[in-house]
Amino acid sequence: MIEVQDIKKSSLAENPVIAQMSLHNHEQVVFCNDNETGLKAIIAIHNTVLGPSLGGTRMWAYNNEMEALTDVLRLSRGMTYKSSVAGLNLGGGKAVIIGDAKTQKNEVLMRRFGKFVNSLSGKYITAEDVGVNTRDMEYIKMETDFVSGLPANMGGSGDPSPVTAYGVYLSMKASAKEKWGNDSLEGKKIVVQGIGNVGDNLVKHLMKENARVSIYDIHEDRMKAVAKHTGAEIILDANTLYDLDMDIYAPCALGATVNTDTLNRLKCSIICGAANNQLADENVHGKMVIEKGILYAPDFVVNAGGIINVFYELQGYNRERAMAHAEKIYQTTLNIFKTAKEQNIPTYMAANRLAEKRIEEIGKVKLSF
Ligand code: NAD
Repeated sequence: MIEVQDIKKSSLAENPVIAQMSLHNHEQVVFCNDNETGLKAIIAIHNTVLGPSLGGTRMWAYNNEMEALTDVLRLSRGMTYKSSVAGLNLGGGKAVIIGDAKTQKNEVLMRRFGKFVNSLSGKYITAEDVGVNTRDMEYIKMETDFVSGLPANMGGSGDPSPVTAYGVYLSMKASAKEKWGNDSLEGKKIVVQGIGNVGDNLVKHLMKENARVSIYDIHEDRMKAVAKHTGAEIILDANTLYDLDMDIYAPCALGATVNTDTLNRLKCSIICGAANNQLADENVHGKMVIEKGILYAPDFVVNAGGIINVFYELQGYNRERAMAHAEKIYQTTLNIFKTAKEQNIPTYMAANRLAEKRIEEIGKVKLSF
């Protein structure tokens, strides 16, 4: 008997692009090439049932084109789930420019890329991501209006980090309520790893609530500055971070820090932070956290403040409305914990199901006219 897996494997070999798209039902992938500027980019649109696809453009020196394709497919799908769970009328999309952002980026390359974004007539709306800064967004904006997440001096919503941090803080409170029956963080020992734009703002919320916050960042100066203006304690030895006595671990730097090694060391009750893709392997570590008695707040639910902020820019930005929407992250987090308990599944899976359910239901509404 031919197994579905075998069909997937054989079609991957024959036609790697469409087969990869079909694995997670991506709608459209646009390959962009321009010999004059040297632009090589891929725009992936995963799903537009809820609305136009929105997600940042990443510029990265990928080793090969397949690596770039895999990344853009994975990232665009993630955006579909994040926007759906956040209750936004947005689909998921993402773009990658293949190249070294330090040496190959210039005005003409970014403007040529903007032309490609424009050619999709709004089906894909771009924003900043790794390797692409506000200056680049200015260039892209010269060629297309399908851009969001612009700085305030260009009429945009500015830095989304305060809204993201507020959402992380609310998710953490919801997690505390689920774990301890009370959402107060007073006196809780919280380790924040990565004191960048989000981490810094998060620490301020936590200190206001009299939590006992320890921070770590690879940039010592930054860590010292944040410790000085917030009163948080500095973790001196990075190697001890996962072994510390803590109630909550808040990853706010890198992905994949929740893995077999760290889970064997962590003694926390809750994992809740801003970083994307925290679980090194969803299937393995989503279950392992349960075995360890740790409540994991799914990252794309927790850090949705950024996309919420960008969404409100599309409608004429109003920070109060963005913050009011971000407040819903508290209840969404609780709903996910409830579903996970009722269905006896890991929390990441409950979040995925919630996202898929909304897309399915709204899809039916749209079919009726
Ligand atoms: P940032 O670049 O401002 O900050 C990241 C910080 O992590 C930096 O200070 C960096 O020095 C530090 N860092 C890097 N490697 C580290 C390590 N090994 N150990 C400790 N610290 C390390 O980024 P940000 O905007 O604060 O975002 C933080 C995370 O949240 C990222 O993973 C980002 O993808 C995610 N996120 C951010 C937003 C947003 O609105 N900014 C939205 C959604 C998700």
